[in-house]
Amino acid sequence: MNEVKKIEEINEDISWRDITPGGVAPWAGGAETFTTGDWRTMRPVLIEDKCTGCLLCWPTCPDTSIIPTDDGKIKYDYDHCKGCGVCVEVCPFDAIDFVEDIS
Ligand code: SF4
Ligand code: SF4
Repeated sequence: MNEVKKIEEINEDISWRDITPGGVAPWAGGAETFTTGDWRTMRPVLIEDKCTGCLLCWPTCPDTSIIPTDDGKIKYDYDHCKGCGVCVEVCPFDAIDFVEDIS
């Protein structure tokens, strides 16, 4: 198999054999290339006053969209958050609002 091409590398000089079915990205970190959170219908919003910085939410995000911050709390990567609500459910301090996010 030839070297697999990324979506942005598709051009008139390559063959279909150079592309994976469905555009599947077999390399690590592929999501960095795309904004995958733009079909989200709900958005988690941190309530700063309630957040203790326990980070119990951080490992539960299936999209690695919770980022620890220097002030000991978290922020969201909204480019990749899908609005699944897992972090909202697991936070034991009710420190995350879950609001409609339809644009
Ligand atoms: S689980 Fe809740 S309190 Fe803990 S870091 Fe996450 S948002 Fe903050
Ligand atoms: S709503 Fe889901 S995808 Fe978004 S930060 Fe929380 S756990 Fe991650």
